[in-house]
Amino acid sequence: MEIKSIMPDNPPIWRNFRFPNSHRHEIFFGTSNRKLSIKDGLIIYLTPEMHNGSKEGIHQNHDFDMYAKRFAERVWLDYYGKTIDDFIERYGINVL
Ligand SMILES: [Zn+2]
Repeated sequence: MEIKSIMPDNPPIWRNFRFPNSHRHEIFFGTSNRKLSIKDGLIIYLTPEMHNGSKEGIHQNHDFDMYAKRFAERVWLDYYGKTIDDFIERYGINVL
C-alpha cells in the first residue's frame, strides 16, 4: 500500500512515491515515532541498497539518517504550520 509522503521528491537520494523494488522508510523510526511518521507523511521510498542493503543505507549511515531527519522536521514544521516545541511534543526530539 502506498502511503502519502509530504516529503519533496529528492532523486537520486530518495523518491516520495513507490517505485519498483523500493523500500518504504519511516524517517522517525522509533517504536511510537514510526506510526507518527506514517500518519504525518514523513516517509520516503528508497532502493534496497539505500535503505538497509549497504553501508550507505540510511539504517547504517548516521549522516544520511540525520540529513533525512533534519529535512523532515523542517518539512513537517512548514507543512503543518507548527513550531519546534510542537514537534518535540509529538516526536520527543528536535534535530534542528
Ligand atoms: Zn527504514
